[in-house]
Amino acid sequence: MQTLKNYINGELLEPVSKQYLDNYDPSRGKVYSLIPNSDERDVELAVKAAHEAFPAWSVTPKDVRSQYLLKIASLIEQNLDKLARAESLDNGKPLHLAKTVDIPRAAANFHFYGTGILHYAAHAHSMEDTAINYTLRQPVGVAGCISPWNLPLYLFSWKIAPALAAGCTVVAKPSEVTPMTAYLLSEICIEAGLPKGVLNIVHGLGPKVGNAIVSNTKVPVISFTGGTKTGAHIASIAAPMFKKMSLELGGKNPNIIFADCDYQKMLSTTMLSSFANQGQICLCGSRIFVERSIYDTFKADFVEKTKKLVIGAPLDDKTKIGAVVSESHMEKILSYVELAKQEGGIVLCGGKRAKVDGEFANGYYIEPTIIEGLPYSCRTNQEEIFGPVVTITPFDTEEEVMTYANSTIYGLASTVWTQDITKANRVAMNLHTGIVWVNCWLLRDLRTPFGGVKSSGVGREGGFEALDFFTEPKNVCVKLK
Ligand code: NDP
Repeated sequence: MQTLKNYINGELLEPVSKQYLDNYDPSRGKVYSLIPNSDERDVELAVKAAHEAFPAWSVTPKDVRSQYLLKIASLIEQNLDKLARAESLDNGKPLHLAKTVDIPRAAANFHFYGTGILHYAAHAHSMEDTAINYTLRQPVGVAGCISPWNLPLYLFSWKIAPALAAGCTVVAKPSEVTPMTAYLLSEICIEAGLPKGVLNIVHGLGPKVGNAIVSNTKVPVISFTGGTKTGAHIASIAAPMFKKMSLELGGKNPNIIFADCDYQKMLSTTMLSSFANQGQICLCGSRIFVERSIYDTFKADFVEKTKKLVIGAPLDDKTKIGAVVSESHMEKILSYVELAKQEGGIVLCGGKRAKVDGEFANGYYIEPTIIEGLPYSCRTNQEEIFGPVVTITPFDTEEEVMTYANSTIYGLASTVWTQDITKANRVAMNLHTGIVWVNCWLLRDLRTPFGGVKSSGVGREGGFEALDFFTEPKNVCVKLK
């Protein structure tokens, strides 16, 4: 059985405690590797390494930093098959998804920031002939980067790449549930010759390792993606220490379908926005609101297509729905189906644990599930489920659907389907979310600001926003006479 190691000061190390945690293959419900059960002593070593590497890395010329990032991007591309298989096995996602989305996107993150840093400029403010102000953007210091399990390497690299490009050194923690590709990334960084201490990866549990990173006084900037509850906990530690914080949190995204949409495009995209990655994407549209005149047609077509989705082993090419990430997460999702029934919901399809034969019989599979008949304000329609479960609800007027859409504590993303451009713009303007997709879903340009409002987070990732986050602006005012 493979035993993973921490990556600290350029080396692969055992945890100080010599203790390990089981790592599960969710497609079989079986332990298949061990990961370091690290604690604050390992974090202390990692922070020390990052702190010592910071002075040199922060003044390393941008084009040299860029070369390291581009080398890492290229090594990820060269190892696409190996990384995709590892991601699929560790997370339960279909191999095809890992191969076409997760791993290419991780490479793109390093490529994007490896080139982006070369174009990053600061401002100057002239006071005519009195003075000139120029703004320096200096790397903040050691960055703490903590990421979740749903898009493991994709989201891990989305934080690490801009931090390193900006000149910060990093102590990072992947989710304990999906550590494998972060471990493989440490091997890639060694191969790329990244200077020691610039990136450190500590494996282990959130309350131990994550907490130790967040509360360390030598880590002045925290970038976190995960659940809203964990985000609130992190903020309660980091805010009184006046750390810079970026929090990308949960969502309960509306998918609003007007009768005048391009129906076939909407239907095929709604299949993805509902069930891609077993619904475990923070951007999935889990509340589907459909204009009443097409509600019955949509319901029949959507249910029919959903019943045909092939549930199965992640490595099988035919699989569209793989395993959810863990047994406890599977139980949480199924408990929401029970709640929906108690709240008066009608399960139109799915709703149960799915059985897959042979060696996968103990895997954590859930049938893609569609529920109707629930009020917009019930718990099923207000709380994040984060699985292959969606609700469908008819609406009559735009005003009514805006009330439904904006009714949750979350505000991450939303999708709008209509051919009426004026209506699309008006609805986009009035939605309380950080991202609005019109007639598409998950179409990403890495230059755009990414993040949510309300309980979906604080701050934005993406583009120059991330470089702004990992740097501190300093205004220098020079009197001319
Ligand atoms: P969690 O909040 O449980 O965990 C996220 C990360 O935080 C993990 O690495 C976890 O470690 C760590 N962590 C847990 N407790 C602490 C703590 N006390 N201090 C510091 N770190 C801690 O989220 P999940 O991993 O369950 O991910 C799912 C959530 O992420 C969903 O709510 C989803 O919406 C959200 N998400 C948001 C995105 C966005 O961009 N807005 C994108 C993707 C997901 P460990 O796993 O080891 O416990």
